[in-house]
Amino acid sequence: MDLRQIQDILTKKASKIPPDYSETIQITSLALLKMLKHCHDGSPNQVMGIMLGTVVDDYTICVDDAFALPQVGWAINIDSIDVEFLKKMLKLQKQTQNKLKPVGWYHSHPGKGPFLDTDDAFIQKEFQQEEQRFAAVVIDPIQSCYGHVIIGAFRLVSQETFDLGVEPRLTTSNIGHLERPLVYSKTYYKMLIKYSLKEKDRKLLMSMKPYKWFDGLIVKRGSDAESENEGRIQNACELLDLFNQRLKEEHKLLTEKKSPQQIQAELAVKYVGKIDPRRNMDKNASIAIEDTLSQSLAAMIFNVTF
Ligand SMILES: [Zn+2]
Repeated sequence: MDLRQIQDILTKKASKIPPDYSETIQITSLALLKMLKHCHDGSPNQVMGIMLGTVVDDYTICVDDAFALPQVGWAINIDSIDVEFLKKMLKLQKQTQNKLKPVGWYHSHPGKGPFLDTDDAFIQKEFQQEEQRFAAVVIDPIQSCYGHVIIGAFRLVSQETFDLGVEPRLTTSNIGHLERPLVYSKTYYKMLIKYSLKEKDRKLLMSMKPYKWFDGLIVKRGSDAESENEGRIQNACELLDLFNQRLKEEHKLLTEKKSPQQIQAELAVKYVGKIDPRRNMDKNASIAIEDTLSQSLAAMIFNVTF
């Protein structure tokens, strides 16, 4: 078999796999807020970071979290990536035992709008060689305004599929209509972006709601206060179980032959991003006492006044 034949077979094989331009990248509000804040704080300089999440299926990538990378220069290029820092962060991420993996990188284009320039394409090529489905997100923090974020998600078109001129994978949609992804400048294409609000994000955003002084004087219904207190007691039981479990884990670590510094370092990283039962029990107890007290006081004032 000569070289020509091998090449023919390879080309035939390659042409069977259609390129895929119909993926959706789903960004949670928490990740979007984090990225936007980082890009905003960094402007007018360009800043970059890594997006963490999960690859759901062939059509969807979910971005749950993001972290910033240290800035070395004014603009983004391959030399401005601190590889050592990146490796260290990914190692720490693995130790925290959550299932998020790096799914893409983001960077800012202050005032320029989202696109990939030559340097970005070069970085993206490096990432894509490691992980085919790695996505590049570009945010413009200057043009973004309240309720509208200027953002774009891109991926490079591989040179082989471009040379072969293969049609992209055909997709149908049950949502009603299908937005066609745009292929830019024959080297990269735009991915669809969707935003999601998970329960955890909703709680976090709600906790930022400003409270007024008279909120404490609102008397709740007796049945509401009762069910709230029942929920708190149930929560306290769950936290107690968790605390018990945590103590057992710590005890197990202590029995292993490791130095105290090593154990401390391991414990510090192991529970990152997880509920701390000790602190939560303390916090919940004081909230319950404060709430019950203010409810009784407000009810008394209400009785005396009206
Ligand atoms: Zn750029």
